[in-house]
Amino acid sequence: MARVALVTGGTRGIGAAISVAFKEAGYKVAANYAGNDEAANAFKAQTGIPVFKWSVADYEACAAGVKQVEAELGPVEILVNNAGITRDAMFHKMTPQQWREVIDTNLTGVFNMTHPVWSGMRDRKFGRIVTISSINGQKGQAGQANYSAAKAGDIGFTKALAQEGARAGITVNVIAPGYIGTEMVKAIDEKVLNERIIPQIPVGRLGTPEEIARTVLFLASDDAGFITGSTIAANGGQYMS
Ligand code: NDP
Repeated sequence: MARVALVTGGTRGIGAAISVAFKEAGYKVAANYAGNDEAANAFKAQTGIPVFKWSVADYEACAAGVKQVEAELGPVEILVNNAGITRDAMFHKMTPQQWREVIDTNLTGVFNMTHPVWSGMRDRKFGRIVTISSINGQKGQAGQANYSAAKAGDIGFTKALAQEGARAGITVNVIAPGYIGTEMVKAIDEKVLNERIIPQIPVGRLGTPEEIARTVLFLASDDAGFITGSTIAANGGQYMS
């Protein structure tokens, strides 16, 4: 029986590559998204992957969304917490709303999505949770106090949960990507990207969404059953912790 993988923010960028990689590997896939219907519908038409709209920042919506996915596809055995946003500002200019939006989506969203799938995974004695953190959660980034805090929180969350899930056959891991060529990164000024960011990456280029997707796929596989509580850096050598 094909396993069911639920990918949050699975209709664009890194998440879309993850959804497609799971489908190509024979999994049943559900791709969640927040509000960009146009992108989600285009993704669905192109890939045939069903899309489900709710905000990971809303606990009740997550619980209902998981129920709907499970009714349509079967129990979620793999959860990829990929949905994420940025609201960058230097700290002296950062508003409480910018802080809250990023924490609510990038950190609380991971709780909101993991909680509704956890009991089922425990009962079935199998589960894979993979969360997409960031290099900036490991090293911090000026202008991203909110984002760095949330992404560092994802790493702590993962280490705690990995210990709780270990005896129940659930692995919990984090991938910390460096700069990946998605809309989030293409929004950065091209001059800044070429003159300041890429020179800091030893491999000399941005990563691709597919490179992150293949790492997720490995962590979700049976072969990765002994890897739990890990933070896998995928950053072209930019930061080695
Ligand atoms: P994109 O902006 O390209 O895509 C984000 C996806 O997340 C979209 O599908 C979006 O839905 C969804 N999303 C946003 N907010 C919510 C929400 N509240 N509920 C449900 N879905 C939501 O992002 P990337 O592909 O660049 O990033 C994916 C992840 O990787 C993020 O967690 C990001 O922080 C992380 N990351 C990215 C890096 C990069 O270089 N790109 C580097 C390191 C980490 P919709 O289409 O409806 O808006």
